[in-house]
Amino acid sequence: MMKDPDIQLKVNGEVKKIRKGVSLASLLKELSVDPRRVVVELNQAILPKNAYAERVLKENDEVEIVHFVGGGKAKSLVIVESPAKSKTIHHILGDEYIIRPSMGHVIDLPASKMGVDVEKDFEPTYIVIKGKKKILNELKKEAKAVDTIYLAPDPDREGEAISWHLKNFFGNSKKIHRVVFHEITREAVLEAFKHPGEIDLKKVNAQQARRILDRIVGYSLSPLLWKKVGKGLSAGRVQSVAARLVVDREKEITAFIPQEYWEIEARLSPQKSPNKEFLAKLERVDDKKAELANQEVVDTLLKKLEGSSFVVKDVRKSEKKKSPSAPFTTSKLQQDAFNKLHFSAARTMRIAQQLYEGLEIGKEGTVGLITYMRTDSVRVSEGAIVQVRDTIEKKFGREYLPKEPNRYVSKKTAQEAHEAIRPTSAFREPDVIKSYLSTDQYKLYRLIYSRFVASQMEKANFLILSVDIACGPALFRASHQSCLFPGFLSVYATEEEEEKKETLLPEVSVGETLTFHQFLPSQHFTKPPPRYTEGSLVKALEELGIGRPSTYAPTLQTIIQRDYIRREKGSLIPTELGNLVTRLLIEHFPKILDIQFTAAMEEELDDIEEGRAEWTAVLKKFYSPFSESLSLAKTEMKREVIETKESCEKCGLPMVIKWGRAGRFLSCSGWPACKNARSITTGVPCPSPGCDGQLVERRSKKRGRFFYGCTRYPKCTFITNQLPSNEGTTYGTK
Ligand SMILES: [Zn+2]
Ligand SMILES: [Zn+2]
Repeated sequence: MMKDPDIQLKVNGEVKKIRKGVSLASLLKELSVDPRRVVVELNQAILPKNAYAERVLKENDEVEIVHFVGGGKAKSLVIVESPAKSKTIHHILGDEYIIRPSMGHVIDLPASKMGVDVEKDFEPTYIVIKGKKKILNELKKEAKAVDTIYLAPDPDREGEAISWHLKNFFGNSKKIHRVVFHEITREAVLEAFKHPGEIDLKKVNAQQARRILDRIVGYSLSPLLWKKVGKGLSAGRVQSVAARLVVDREKEITAFIPQEYWEIEARLSPQKSPNKEFLAKLERVDDKKAELANQEVVDTLLKKLEGSSFVVKDVRKSEKKKSPSAPFTTSKLQQDAFNKLHFSAARTMRIAQQLYEGLEIGKEGTVGLITYMRTDSVRVSEGAIVQVRDTIEKKFGREYLPKEPNRYVSKKTAQEAHEAIRPTSAFREPDVIKSYLSTDQYKLYRLIYSRFVASQMEKANFLILSVDIACGPALFRASHQSCLFPGFLSVYATEEEEEKKETLLPEVSVGETLTFHQFLPSQHFTKPPPRYTEGSLVKALEELGIGRPSTYAPTLQTIIQRDYIRREKGSLIPTELGNLVTRLLIEHFPKILDIQFTAAMEEELDDIEEGRAEWTAVLKKFYSPFSESLSLAKTEMKREVIETKESCEKCGLPMVIKWGRAGRFLSCSGWPACKNARSITTGVPCPSPGCDGQLVERRSKKRGRFFYGCTRYPKCTFITNQLPSNEGTTYGTK
């Protein structure tokens, strides 16, 4: 038999000649590569291991053999943050790697003291976080058996800082690499392990600067508040500004004076088809914008219009296109999940984290379903665009697919290495994987999926019909919008589109006289700006440049946990305490509470990350004016109490509200001479049989949730989450 001729191909970039008909499995054998210890890419696609034997190599094939571990030595250690992420990565990398979670940060500033030496260039004292010693010991033990450690925490400043602390912990005894990926999928993780890198110190320094800045502010302001207002209070840099927004909005609402105004609609129909009634709204009178301040003005005008006929003056038709929104950034995801699913920002992030870290999807195994959820970029990888365009064309048809992919521009602060939040595969449709997800996971995944698909779809097109109708000196207008082509709206509608009501307009032509049926005058009042919700507060924080993708949810959580702000039927309302603390801080620390200053601070942190600023210089610039305000406030800030109408049953002096570790309480204003104090009751009698106590508001220590207990505690242990309907008295605070 004739020997097969040679063919030429590339193995790891080098040209190689082999005989025709050789399989990939034989090639590996020839190169003495153990197929269990490698991943093979053939022409840039990863080949499943069970295909090695069948796949016969062809001319010009490109074979990339990726070794996981150097030589024959056992394994490498990979450190990630969480058990869920470990599980997904284990599924991808296999048993060749030991994968262990650090459970978040392991090394940090001490909780018991400031831990920052401002005299020595803000040198931080880092310690092993309480309870993390055991984890570090275990990691050390695992590390003994390997010569390489891969640090794979999340791709942002916090993840970089965790990696840096771990690297310092392990020292120089091991080869240590940083691997970064924005989605936990086979392709992305293997790609990252092919190009392990170094820790980005600029990112670490930006994280340290933020941590130290917040530490200095928090650990300086909190003891001041303990002295001047009450024990257990605290203040922080970004959260105090967020609380301020809510406090300021409430002031605006309280100060708002509603203005009366009127509108007039006319019920009309074409003479030829009297049953096709429609409404036209008064727009102008004597060629000026109609302004109807009260009923007298309305009555006078209607009298004037009496008997005048309604004649069509103008009919306008125009088309309006509406473009889809960019795929989600963190803040947009939080806003939409609040508006559409009523999820708090914290809940959204918790569920998004689960989707990102990976879930078991049937035969496919454990896989990350979305890209990293802390991002302010709207960029999308080319691979994802190809996939989603394919999906759109197959599912909706060619007319729903724009000629060129839609491109979105990120804010200038966004990091271009990052991507928007999107499904890791457009082929994983929400309804197909529904049975593997919890209800919340499904809802959030569907939201992310639809927003992404819609972002690459064709614009929606509307026909707008607008009719101007003259009646004496008045001009009425009727308009109607109809959808010519739904485009992306068939997948994803925004709030405003969902709410739009359609009123039909009959065909009319210029010069036509209409049948008049009735005037419909209506009284209105101008409304104050609405209270913030979690959704609109995140929006405001983003627009004002306060905070970053990783900080919105924790900021909201903090101001609620500290009882500066409460949620009430979805709205955010400041408490007395929130008002008081905010007022004191604005008075004594105007800069810290200043919105522009806080936004500029965020930019300086970005500058550190981009290498445009040196982190200790940023801290220094901040610190000296701050410490001046601090020492002034220590002497000038007055001790604050809130008066009530109650009087002390022991000495007759008025009682005042104070704050302690367990929340608000009533204290005698004669303190310290009279030490009388009691809890603030709701005025609602305790429903427990035979108990003469009243219900008081209490707070759980762990989660900061409110509940009601009995004043006779511990004799009576009645508790409830909801106050019985008998509404109690509230204390006479202004
Ligand atoms: Zn007293
Ligand atoms: Zn009781």
